[in-house]
Amino acid sequence: MRNTQEYKSLYDMCARDGCVICRLVLENTSRYLEHWKYELFTDVGVRQELRRARGFCHRHTWQLARMGASLQLAQAYRDIISDTVERLQQGEAVMGRFRRLKETKREQGSCPACRSEVKAEERYIHTLRRALLEEEFYERFSTSHGLCLEHFRQASEAKVAGDWLAKLRAAQLLCLQRLDEQLGELIRKHDYRFRDEPHGPEMVSWKYAAGIVAGEE
Ligand SMILES: [Zn+2]
Ligand SMILES: [Zn+2]
Repeated sequence: MRNTQEYKSLYDMCARDGCVICRLVLENTSRYLEHWKYELFTDVGVRQELRRARGFCHRHTWQLARMGASLQLAQAYRDIISDTVERLQQGEAVMGRFRRLKETKREQGSCPACRSEVKAEERYIHTLRRALLEEEFYERFSTSHGLCLEHFRQASEAKVAGDWLAKLRAAQLLCLQRLDEQLGELIRKHDYRFRDEPHGPEMVSWKYAAGIVAGEE
C-alpha cells in the first residue's frame, strides 16, 4: 500500500492547503486537458466522442481556453458548429449544452473531462479509505485541512464497512475543530478592541472554510 503512487500522492497532498481529494482530482483534470491539448485532440475516436457530446462542459471549455488551447478548440468546436449549420439547414432541432447550474448530471457525464474527473475521484477515495488504516497516514491526514464536505460525504458512503470509517470521522473531526478555532480567532480579531494583536495563519482561514464548504477552486 505504502509503495503505490496513489498512496504517495495522497500522503504528500496532506501537507498542502485544502481538501486532498479536490486537489488531486483538479491535478488529474489538468493533466487530462493537457493531454487532450497536445495529443488527444487529433485522435479520431476522441474527436467523434466530443462531437457527440457537443463539446466539453462550460467549466472545462473555459479551462482549456485559459490553457491556450485555441487551435485545438477551433478544430473540435468547428465540428459542432458545422453539425449545427447542417441541422438548421435541414430544419431540424438544434441541441446545445446547458450551462453552469442548469447542467444536469447527464450533461456533465457526457463531457470527457468530467468523466475523467469522476473516475479519478472514485480512485482516490478508494485509496484514502485503505490509507487511513496506516497509522503514519492517519496522523498526517489529521493535521491536514481534512476533506471538503462533499468529498467527506462521498468517502463516508460505506459500501464496505470497516475500521476506516471511524478513522475518517475522527480525523475529519480534528481537522474541522482546528478550522473552527481559527475562524473564531479571525472573527475576534476583526473587532476593533483586538485589532492590534499580531495576525497569524488564522487570517486566511476564511479561504480554507470556503474550500471545505464549497469544494476547492
Ligand atoms: Zn474535496
Ligand atoms: Zn466537464
